[in-house]
Order: sequence, then C-alpha cells, then structure tokens
Amino acid sequence: MINIPKGTKDVLPSESYKWQYAEERLRKVAKLYNAREIRTPTFEHTELFVRSIGDETDVVSKEMYTFEDKGGRSITLRPEGTASVARSYVENSLEAMSLPLKTYYIISAFRYERPQAGRLREFHQFGAEIYGATSPYLDYDCILFAYDALGALGLDNVKLRLNSIGCGECRRKYVEALRGYFAEHLGEMCPTCRERYGRNALRLLDCKTPSCREIAKNAPVILDYLCDDCRAHHEKLCGLLDKSGVPYEVDPGIVRGLDYYTRTVFEFVTDELGAQGTVLGGGRYDNLVASIGGKPTGCVGFAMGMERALMLMEKRGTDFGDTGIDAFVISQSPEHTEACMRIVAELRRAGVSADTETTGRSMKAQFKYADKQRAKFVVVVGADEFASGKMKIKRLSDGTEKECAAAELAARIKESI
Ligand code: ATP
Ligand code: MG
Repeated sequence: MINIPKGTKDVLPSESYKWQYAEERLRKVAKLYNAREIRTPTFEHTELFVRSIGDETDVVSKEMYTFEDKGGRSITLRPEGTASVARSYVENSLEAMSLPLKTYYIISAFRYERPQAGRLREFHQFGAEIYGATSPYLDYDCILFAYDALGALGLDNVKLRLNSIGCGECRRKYVEALRGYFAEHLGEMCPTCRERYGRNALRLLDCKTPSCREIAKNAPVILDYLCDDCRAHHEKLCGLLDKSGVPYEVDPGIVRGLDYYTRTVFEFVTDELGAQGTVLGGGRYDNLVASIGGKPTGCVGFAMGMERALMLMEKRGTDFGDTGIDAFVISQSPEHTEACMRIVAELRRAGVSADTETTGRSMKAQFKYADKQRAKFVVVVGADEFASGKMKIKRLSDGTEKECAAAELAARIKESI
C-alpha cells in the first residue's frame, strides 16, 4: 500500500461537509466586505518568496518545498498567499483598477514542518488582502473582516492581540536597543537566537524556547520607539477598536514571523489548541509591493488557518448542518431499476436530491442504505405503484406516510422538506 505523505490529510466524503460549511460562510463574509476572490497558482518562482517573506525567516530558510523543474527553474509550492497575490497585483497592474482593492482566497499552502495537531505540511488558509490602504481605517476594516470571519464560524472566543512594529525608521532604532539588551543575555539563550542576534534581532522576541521567552519578557518594547507617524497610526487604530467594542489587547511581544510586515501586526489566539494557538495572523505590509518591483502601496491583510479554525469549531460542538439526500427510491424488484432511475432523474431535474438502487439488493438492504445516506424520504416503487400511478412518500425520521400521484412526486417531496 502507498501511504499519504507525512503531514498531509485526506478530507473524506464523510467530513467534507464541514469544510464546505466553513468555506461557504467565509465567502459570504468576504462578499459583505466587498472582497473579491483571487486565484493564483499553487507554485511560484522561488525568488518571489525569498524576496518578499525574507530569507532570514523560518518559512524561507527551513520550511519551503522547493524544487527544480524540468526546465531548470527553481520553483516553490506556495507557503502562504500574500506574496502570490502581491505578485499578481503587480504583474496584472491591478492598481489601475479603483483602489482600495479588496481580495480574498481559500488556498492550500505548503511548509516543511514537524507535523502535529494543527500543524501540517499541506494546510489551508482563508486570507484577505487589501491594496491601496494607507489609512488606519483600513487596518480597522481588515481587523473587523477577520473578526467577522471568525464570528461567522462561531469562534467569538478567540482573542485579538495587536501590536505595531513601526516602519523601517523606528525599527532601526528599536533593533539597536534590542541588541543592547540581548547582548547581556546571549550566553543564556538558545543557539538559534544566538545566530539570529546579528542578522535579525527582532526574531529573538519570537523564540518559543521557554528560557528565551523569559529573557524576552523584559526586552525593550517597540511601542516606545515608534516615530510620530507610526505612533499616530497605531493610536488611531486603537481608538477605532475601542469604540467598536471588539475586545483586544496590545501585546508588544507580537512581531510576526515574516519580513514584509510594517506598523500594524495582529493575531487572533486561543488557549484551546495547545501550542498551535494562533488561528489567524495578519497585519500591514507597506513595503511588499515595492520589494517585488511595484510602486510603493499601502496594504493590509490576514490569513486564517482553516485546520485550526475547524478544530476549534469541532471542540465547540458546531452543528455543521450535514444533511443527506432528500429522497431514496426503493425498487421492489430489479426489473424496476430502469423505471426507478427515470423517477430519480425527474426528481433531480426538479431540484430534489435523490438516488435509487442499481445493484439489485433486497428491500431490506436498500432501507439500510437509504438510512446510511441519511435520506429524508423513501419512496417504495413496484408493480402496484406503476399500475395505480400513486406513490407513497415515507418520512424516515418518524415513519409517517403521504400518498400522491406519481406526477406530483417531486412537488410533494419539496413541500415536505
Ligand atoms: P505558527 O506560529 O503557528 O507557525 P505562522 O506565524 O507561521 O504560525 P502565518 O504564516 O501567519 O503562521 O499563517 C497564518 C495562519 O496559518 C496561522 O495563524 C495558522 O493558523 C495557519 N498555519 C500556519 N502554518 C501552518 C501549518 N503548518 N499547519 C496548519 N496551519 C498553519
Ligand atoms: Mg510557522
């Protein structure tokens, strides 16, 4: 037997309705926010991710699925959606459309990680990206979008953590202060932090090692280093959130793992998923478009981890509204198979989901199968029914029966659903 690759999952026919339920709701929220779907390829030139996400990040330095294709190009399976959307924005001159432009996507993404609950090698994201968004009102709109997306899945207990990591200017000063602070503790820190110290000191705040976390707790806080513009932006956003009633907490420890973020960064977190507590992450990335050859463009976006969202929904006992078919037509004898298939074809054309027996099983076996398909109604059809032109519709949940003319079958089933 050939097994599924490590860190990937099948979504089986018996559970796909959960995904469909979530996806449908998310698409509805996107529509409410005036966001249009964008679809980009599953793979891109490796260079795109290196340039945009940054080669010092975990995603680029350790987690990418990169290979050379037969034409000798370096190709990478997308580890996230933001960079691809930015590439498409630049390549298709989407700035020529009226801005702000709001996009969303539901995609699979690929990262070579150690698989565990809520951490896969192929996972899925619902994401949104807003282009032409320099004002804090769009950070606010984006956070409300994320909040309502979670709300649409019933996840109103996920907490919003917010921070500003400023612009390049504020960060230069801040990183200097951070280096000064960590220099004294470097001996007690993990090898990764020691290595990152010189190249990307900001990431030392992101380390998950408990002893490093303890040290990071007392590090200087970026909010104290923001320039006037970045501070005003952050304060405006906080003011808007205060008035909106969306609960949040300013958390200076949130720096986000990717290089392209500027100013606003945020996460929606839960303590119900162990170490994989970040259900949704996002922020502003004003330098990304320029870094891949476009004009400087204010952008803000987020991505929700679908697996984590679904895990939480399951924990909360969400009713995913799984329904079976409307009707199963039980054939009293194999000689009626063709006639039953014609009945079913008519039902389907009338918008009633239906099926019938095609393998010649006994009526008992058919009832069992109808039950497994969670049919709402069964219609038993045989010589008597064809002779009289009358059919009985039986509701499986309570056994009640209704008789009707064969020609009215679809209409009667529809009105009883
Ligand atoms: P983490 O800190 O958990 O590794 P991240 O910062 O790498 O997350 P992002 O790049 O911000 O994650 O991606 C947005 C969301 O996608 C995350 O909040 C998470 O819900 C989800 N996600 C990221 N990586 C994975 C993965 N390997 N498996 C499942 N979901 C993931
Ligand atoms: Mg990660």
